[in-house]
Amino acid sequence: MPLFRPPAEGDNLIIQATLGCSFNQCSFCAMYSSKQYVARPLGDVFADIREAAWPGARRVFLADGDALALPTEHLLAILRELAAVLPGLTRVSCYATPGNLMKKRVEELALLREHKLSLLYFGIESGSDLILKKITKGATQRGMSEVLHKAQAGGMKISATVILGLGGKKYSEEHIAGTIELLNSAPVTYLSTLQLYLDESSEEEFFRKHGEPFELQDDLAILKEQERLISGLNPPQSVIFRSNHASNALALAGNLPGDRDKLLLQLREAILGCRSLRPHYIRGL
Ligand code: SF4
Repeated sequence: MPLFRPPAEGDNLIIQATLGCSFNQCSFCAMYSSKQYVARPLGDVFADIREAAWPGARRVFLADGDALALPTEHLLAILRELAAVLPGLTRVSCYATPGNLMKKRVEELALLREHKLSLLYFGIESGSDLILKKITKGATQRGMSEVLHKAQAGGMKISATVILGLGGKKYSEEHIAGTIELLNSAPVTYLSTLQLYLDESSEEEFFRKHGEPFELQDDLAILKEQERLISGLNPPQSVIFRSNHASNALALAGNLPGDRDKLLLQLREAILGCRSLRPHYIRGL
């Protein structure tokens, strides 16, 4: 512990293939600050699978922070064990970092896909090179675009996240413009927006790495960022869009670009105060 999983994996079997995050440097993220990254021995993982699997389980999420960091043969062994124990298995998913995808060849991704690892949760956070540098994401817009195309070539679906508010007041425009540029060229299947939420334990590092005074944005400014983002998105393939994460002031759902007008209408109603926002006390990561 702690154990994190995407909201969409709440009803699925969760198996810890690794502990922690192999990168663990993003300035806004305190998720695995208490854990040292380690690949769990296969025997322990297999024992968990046999103990935790219930008959009829069809979807599995491999925790922790970036199980795609595992060598391909190690992942294949886990996927084979899952298939042996769960005859109805339809999908395996995990978190992936840009660095993980850089290290995998298309052929390796395709082999993993054949063994049902078919969905990667991928934190884009921002498409702006300036913001990516300030948050020490370990990737550029171009690098992200390249690995997302590689994932697509390997048959993977990508569920991407963007963090609204990550540029603060000063770099709000830069953050959204860069993110639009990336998402309009990179193939993602799902897109979620989160709202910047700094845990007490990560605040100091976040502000230090930002390198200059950082002014947090209020809900109104975040809604306006969301409005600019949705207005500017013309992705290369239709994207299933959600802002249902617990950090969001306003939950939205639709397809982009098809539902753009509907989503913008809801946002404008919220900006004008005609839609209530999620209270702060129930928000978090
Ligand atoms: S955001 Fe993801 S890649 Fe970055 S430190 Fe947190 S878990 Fe690791």
